[in-house]
Amino acid sequence: MNAWLSARQQAQSVGFVPTMGALHEGHLSLIDRAKKENDLAVCSIFINPTQFNDPADLAKYPRTVEQDLHLLLQRQCDVVFLPEVQDIYSDPASQQRTYDLGTLDARWEGANRPGHFQGVCMVVQRLLEIIPSHRLYLGQKDFQQFLIIQHMVSNLLHGPIAVIPCPIVREPDGLAMSSRNLRLTPQERSESRVIAEALHLIQRSIPAISFDEALAKGRLHLQSASTLQHIDYLALINAEDLSPVAHYEAAKTILAIAAVQFPSARLIDNIVVKGQLGI
Ligand code: AMP
Repeated sequence: MNAWLSARQQAQSVGFVPTMGALHEGHLSLIDRAKKENDLAVCSIFINPTQFNDPADLAKYPRTVEQDLHLLLQRQCDVVFLPEVQDIYSDPASQQRTYDLGTLDARWEGANRPGHFQGVCMVVQRLLEIIPSHRLYLGQKDFQQFLIIQHMVSNLLHGPIAVIPCPIVREPDGLAMSSRNLRLTPQERSESRVIAEALHLIQRSIPAISFDEALAKGRLHLQSASTLQHIDYLALINAEDLSPVAHYEAAKTILAIAAVQFPSARLIDNIVVKGQLGI
């Protein structure tokens, strides 16, 4: 893959979309954008074991490679990279790398999934070593991941790669598309719409009411889903550094973020409530 792309890289720009497969319209919107803005769109499908802190989550992660390849062909993705674990981590040193992420991985997904973002950085660095990319396309759905990879690429790898956040693609009822949605039972799937609804409720409520009141309203709405087991977090944060914000004037760009546990899957989502992400 590296030799093939390097031979073409002189003349052609490469837009890269890393994924873990079980592709949906969210992934495909990133492919469409990579195709539009580059000579070659490259997609990788690799379920990276180093970013799973829960072995059961790794074992249950959906695998639909044949269907993925069909969708990528339909969308005219130019190159698909389907490595095995030994292709990515053949050198044991590549699994020993650590990344100074400052406070970016201290909260939210970082706090709930210890080691997750170290594993994400590990695989993205390896993929970028193999796939010489001009632009890297990431979904805003995993906003903390986007911020961490942007930090890694510009401050730790010093690569001339543009990291581009892409808008969240949603189901008709508002649920953010995710490979993990496939695991939900019909009742969980139906009730999971409360996540996007709660985020919209918060977005609509502020700044007319206080942040605490808006979050309490959102929390109550989440709890209206009988199958919801646990709210890992529901928060209003500064989009620049992920720190919680207490009022509207405290930051230029503010996101409402949520992570909730249903019996069959843990889901995350977010929405911009002030400013814009420059997408
Ligand atoms: P994953 O396969 O879950 O690792 O996701 C691969 C990429 O697709 C990541 O950059 C995700 O943020 C992005 N992505 C996942 N779901 C969506 C969505 N609903 N809308 C836009 N991008 C998404």
